[in-house]
Amino acid sequence: MAQAVRIVFLGGLGEIGRNCALMEIEDRILIIDCGIMFPDLEMLGIDLVLPDFTYLYENADKVEACVITHGHEDHVGALSFLLREISFPIYGSAFALGIARNRIEEAGVLDRTELIAVQDNERRKIGPFDVEFIPVTHSVPQGFALGFHTPQGVILHSGDFKLDPHPVDGRLTDLSRIGAIAAESGVRLLLSDSTNAQEIGHTPTESSVGQVLSILFQNNIDKRVIVTCFASHIHRIQQIADAAQATGRKIATLGRSMAKNVALALSLGILNIDPAVLIDIEDVNKYSDSQICVISTGSQGEPMSALSLMASGENKWLKISERDLVILSSHAIPGNEAAVGKVIDGLYRLGAEVIYPPLAQVHVSGHAMQGELETLLAVAKPEFFIPVHGEYRHLVSHSHIAQSMGVAPQNILLAEDGDIVNIDNGGIDFGGEVPAGYFYLDGLIGNVDRGVLRDRKALSQEGVMVVVVTTDPTAGTVIGEPQIMTKGWMYEDAADPVLDEIRQEIISTLSKVGSQVFKDQEIVKNRIRKSVGKFVYQKTKLRPMIVPIVVEA
Ligand SMILES: [Zn+2]
Ligand SMILES: [Zn+2]
Repeated sequence: MAQAVRIVFLGGLGEIGRNCALMEIEDRILIIDCGIMFPDLEMLGIDLVLPDFTYLYENADKVEACVITHGHEDHVGALSFLLREISFPIYGSAFALGIARNRIEEAGVLDRTELIAVQDNERRKIGPFDVEFIPVTHSVPQGFALGFHTPQGVILHSGDFKLDPHPVDGRLTDLSRIGAIAAESGVRLLLSDSTNAQEIGHTPTESSVGQVLSILFQNNIDKRVIVTCFASHIHRIQQIADAAQATGRKIATLGRSMAKNVALALSLGILNIDPAVLIDIEDVNKYSDSQICVISTGSQGEPMSALSLMASGENKWLKISERDLVILSSHAIPGNEAAVGKVIDGLYRLGAEVIYPPLAQVHVSGHAMQGELETLLAVAKPEFFIPVHGEYRHLVSHSHIAQSMGVAPQNILLAEDGDIVNIDNGGIDFGGEVPAGYFYLDGLIGNVDRGVLRDRKALSQEGVMVVVVTTDPTAGTVIGEPQIMTKGWMYEDAADPVLDEIRQEIISTLSKVGSQVFKDQEIVKNRIRKSVGKFVYQKTKLRPMIVPIVVEA
């Protein structure tokens, strides 16, 4: 009986983001991607969400290495956090490692982290793992699908992919290699990207965006052109730069991540811009409008980003006017629509012409739609299938697609974060769970818990009321009048009479408790919290957070 293989999912199944899975053979662990998730609107004040690494910390001595599929933050962004606790080498494409490297360096752990660049179609032995790096097209250069040659057959992980017939760099998804694996040894298990599993048809080719951009540049020859896109989308940046150069413009980048990624891509030779064309953002005003193209960050309407500051007239380098054309070469990630809408309004108000989808097709997705997912299934012909990288509904839709392509229903596993999946000679099955909750990161402090988030929500909706009561514990009495301070609760003039009544309510409540109670501050606080909460709700139908403070005289 061949050695069993285990897959453990730490993130990415049931959400878009914090992708992280583990493969285990012979008691060794290979980490597959290690990403972050951006917080949703409910997660007030949270900067980032990480996978729960408890299982990895407990099995730190078994970790062999990490392999990364590509350089998006939802696949590499959490490495710097994990590497603070445990060390391991990282295998990936030069570009993906370059992106990961920045954060690892910031975390101060670069000197003890080995970064190993792999080439397209390279096959590497990493401990008991035998990994093949198969090229795929995606919205970042040098993406990989991963072929794991295991004792249980080939396990194929699609990575994030699309089937682009005309990628900007000509590097196609290597369907022929996947077909060859299917023919030689068969694909035992396919794990595949579900992001667009509910979208009918095929994702348009990235090159189509270049054509639209070049027309927009041609039609606005007298205007200054400002384009935003994801800073890691080097092929989009290439197409913007091509359109700019074709219309005789100088190019400046704006935003820290844009400058960094452009420099990285230029140094790797995967971005081609004439050095004579690149200028500093400080120098844009030395040229006429028709001579300038700015490529900027801020496509998600992030509050302090370059584009947001432009829209509110506060950008240091660029003052927006009717002489500008602003192109948002991106789509708003769910949750960011309102922020992006506000930025667009701001730009219009300043007189700019603004182009964004669906006004023109200035963006296409980097993920495969149904037609492409079907093609991959047809080529790989997997025995078993697990949909990955998606919200739960995407995973369900993708499992339906797999079934329609001939995968037996009992051979499809709808796994979620924390699930352990065993693959042995008998087949594939669930084998328990590991901790996989959200790890919230706020500022420099890790793991803000759900209680803190609940408090923040209450504070944001109902405000806070701090009640200070001075007591004499020996006499068992209240001294003087309670003091009350509120924030975010009620308009001051309306609040004053209510506050008077609350003070009386507190005195009356505490006069009724036995004098012994005053010996225990916690009980006094509880009584205040309860009676004030009830009283305030009766009077105002509001539930501010009540913070009692007892001072013993
Ligand atoms: Zn991606
Ligand atoms: Zn992704």
